[in-house]
Amino acid sequence: MWKGLTDRLSELLGRFRGKGRISQEELDNWLRDVRRALLEADVSLSVCRHLVSQIGERARTPDVLEHPAPLRRLSQILYEELVRILGEKVSPVTWAPRPPTIWLLMGLQGSGKTTTAGKLASLYKKQGRKPLLVPADLKRPAASEQLRQIAEQVGVAFFPPDSQDLSRLCQRALRDAQDQGWDLVIVDSAGRMHSDEALMEELAQLKRLLQPHESLLVLDATTGQDAVRLAESFDSRIGLTGVILTKLDSDARGGAVLSVTFVTGKPVKFIGTGEHLQDIDLFHPDRMAARILGMGDVRGLLERVEQIASPEIEKIERRLEKGTFGLDDLLVQLREMRKIGPLDRLLSLLPGLGGFRSQSLTIDEKSLKRTEAIILSMTPEERRNPEIISGSRKKRIARGSGTTVQQVNELLKHFKMMRDTMKRLAKAKVSDEAIVRLLTGMR
Ligand code: GDP
Ligand code: MG
Repeated sequence: MWKGLTDRLSELLGRFRGKGRISQEELDNWLRDVRRALLEADVSLSVCRHLVSQIGERARTPDVLEHPAPLRRLSQILYEELVRILGEKVSPVTWAPRPPTIWLLMGLQGSGKTTTAGKLASLYKKQGRKPLLVPADLKRPAASEQLRQIAEQVGVAFFPPDSQDLSRLCQRALRDAQDQGWDLVIVDSAGRMHSDEALMEELAQLKRLLQPHESLLVLDATTGQDAVRLAESFDSRIGLTGVILTKLDSDARGGAVLSVTFVTGKPVKFIGTGEHLQDIDLFHPDRMAARILGMGDVRGLLERVEQIASPEIEKIERRLEKGTFGLDDLLVQLREMRKIGPLDRLLSLLPGLGGFRSQSLTIDEKSLKRTEAIILSMTPEERRNPEIISGSRKKRIARGSGTTVQQVNELLKHFKMMRDTMKRLAKAKVSDEAIVRLLTGMR
């Protein structure tokens, strides 16, 4: 999925790969192309406008344009703005203070309502809840039979519809839930090919009868802007608490995901990612943004990106430019890197650096610890100015860090090499790629 948009965006970021400083004109051209890429992915016009103007506003500063490695800044801005458009945070589902919790699923026929009801039951059964699946489609007996089979498959309770009257059906289902201790009632409502007044009236009635804690619209993500319009009309007519996007495993172009929350103000709560009953996930705006940018679906990605942009690293970058990089900086850098995790992960966070991704580099934890111990055994003076470290000082440092003089020598040699290269690079304007090459050579 996303292939079109993802490829296009990383291609666009690639334009600034290895580049130090960007002109206003280059930025404007770039923004225009980003906007076009979004429109081609069926993202709604208002979202395109908003995204591009936010990104432009944040990028059009000397801090970004004149940064020695603007690609990283730009990638980060793009990522953060995507996260914001997608709703920023995970939107938790609502539970009743006293069970049962009632969730009403709505949507057009074929959107994935019945499947999603089963998926939710399966997901929360695993978490110790006792779901009851209730079919509220009285006109199509086949629909209730499908739900019954899914309930059986998942191993959860099913409420057999025993009445043609919606109000009686709801009452009995809720009473059954209370009597039997089913604490999560999931109601699968009737669908139609198109939304019409009769359907809306029926759903509005159902909502009045059930007083659900969640009123969720199930939307087929492959329908793009149509899904967004549908969400608007359901929300204004019935009132939604959230949206579930299905079929994100297929060739959805991104339009629905990127537009629905911004346009309707309603959060996406779950996504369906396949036909099987386990193919459901809570919606994480940060992970989705990472996915759209082709960064992979890395858990906790946001934290890592924040660490990359940590003030410590930025300080180091500035010192790098000035050529005043010391062993203290190396120490900070090593620690930051360890926080971030394996280097290949770090690299995959920088979308312009796709080529490095395959190398799968990891930093050896043991040698990291050793390096850290050696640096910590040095005096502040020695760290700033390693030239003064004589033979007797080396012996003291080796003893203090539980290493050998040879290992201290190795580190010092490596550090000097690194610093010299960095000085040269700083003069030639440091590019992201160069920094990465340096870091990867550092083992
Ligand atoms: P309903 O009419 O809204 O109840 O839709 P169904 O639950 O019967 O689903 C319609 C079709 O979409 C079925 O073939 C499902 O297997 C399929 N479907 C539902 N959710 C997903 C999903 O997340 N991914 C894929 N690929 N197919 C899905
Ligand atoms: Mg159905």
